[in-house]
Amino acid sequence: MTERGSEQRVSEHDVTDFYRMNDLLTERERDVRERVRTFCDKEVTPIINDYWERAEFPFELVPKLAELGVAGGTIEGDGCPGLSPVATGLIAMELARADGSVCTFFGVHSGLAMQSIALLGSEEQKRRWLPAMARMDKIGAFALTEPEHGSDAVALETRARRDGDCYVLDGAKRWIGNASFADLVIVWARDEAGKVGGFVVEKGTPGFNASVMTGKIAKRAVWQAEITLEGVRVPVANRLAGANGFGDTAKVLAATRFGVAWEAVGHAMAAYESALSHAKQREQFGAPIASYQLVQHKLATMLAEITAMQLICLRLSQLAGSGQMTDGMSSLAKMHNAAKARRVVADARDILGGIGILLENHVARHQADMEAVFTYEGTDSIQSLIVGREITGVSAFTRKA
Ligand SMILES: Cc1cc2nc3c(=O)[nH]c(=O)nc-3n(C[C@H](O)[C@H](O)[C@H](O)COP(=O)(O)OP(=O)(O)OC[C@H]3O[C@@H](n4cnc5c(N)ncnc54)[C@H](O)[C@@H]3O)c2cc1C
Repeated sequence: MTERGSEQRVSEHDVTDFYRMNDLLTERERDVRERVRTFCDKEVTPIINDYWERAEFPFELVPKLAELGVAGGTIEGDGCPGLSPVATGLIAMELARADGSVCTFFGVHSGLAMQSIALLGSEEQKRRWLPAMARMDKIGAFALTEPEHGSDAVALETRARRDGDCYVLDGAKRWIGNASFADLVIVWARDEAGKVGGFVVEKGTPGFNASVMTGKIAKRAVWQAEITLEGVRVPVANRLAGANGFGDTAKVLAATRFGVAWEAVGHAMAAYESALSHAKQREQFGAPIASYQLVQHKLATMLAEITAMQLICLRLSQLAGSGQMTDGMSSLAKMHNAAKARRVVADARDILGGIGILLENHVARHQADMEAVFTYEGTDSIQSLIVGREITGVSAFTRKA
């Protein structure tokens, strides 16, 4: 049997673009992807293991990320870049390919926090907060999850009581990314009428306390906080004008969930690239391990999963761009990609053998980080129930008692 001609082989640069997704991108999307990839290769990958090991947040990267001019993603106006959903997804993919913590930091700020304001804020509120957030002069956080309410965040217990020109917030939040240093934390709380609203708590507001959670085995270089809110007075003008029920919160989650699906692809790509390169170099039994059928089968399966994930993301983002994306569609992508990427990073770790657990080989960190991706912004099971509700018309997760 003859070897394939070199011109038919996938180039080194394209090892994770087997179906040439690149050809389907617009020039602007390609440009954004290249800019973010270059930034990641130069600024993130060389320094991140140390931050991850020490569980420190790389503040030095924030002004450099700001220079990319991509914060705000699809948001148009108010200083935001107005990118396509595909470009926004590619940013998440490239950031995750370098590092999951940086991707999560950016996703919380540019996705969850900025989109809450863009989707639910009044024109005045958008003008007030978005330009500084787009420049990353002000960093945002999104505080929904509570100690007693994760998957059933719809039952959140944090209260917002009207008192003159203010709302007074009382309650507790958990797992809130960026909240220990954010300038704006969007706190989701229930008002006296029982409606869930989004309240922008600005840095330094008395009664707001955030402490960094420690002891994590995933996403170690980004900080999540436990928050207590005790008599936190927030001006009425800081209640997002369009947030008048949990359905509005859910709109933000649905709009940003496709980014998590792209993030999973980035983790899988990074791990696969390391595994492929290692398999070609590492010799056992007198030959590169890449020459063994079992290893090739693993690599081929990993690449098939990555290719499927990429195509799902691309199509989903196109549907988002044309206004056709449903909750079930974005949940299906998150569910599928997180599960498949979790498997890919585990197989990559296996292919590296013992050194797969060393941070310096850039696989263990991705494997650990994928555990968080599998769970956050809606667990695997909850995503499947959102898909299930859409395809059967029956909700399997309405609150019991
Ligand atoms: C690294 C990280 C960052 C995060 N960042 C943020 C953030 O910035 N802001 C924020 O608000 N939140 C954040 N979260 C919280 C995250 O969204 C929640 O962890 C997630 O929604 C799951 O909630 P939980 O951890 O309370 O798990 P639980 O809801 O307690 O779930 C535990 C298990 O029960 C299953 N389960 C629950 N209900 C059902 C059901 N009806 N049927 C079948 N199975 C069910 C789940 O699938 C899961 O397997 C973050 C979490 C992590 C780990």
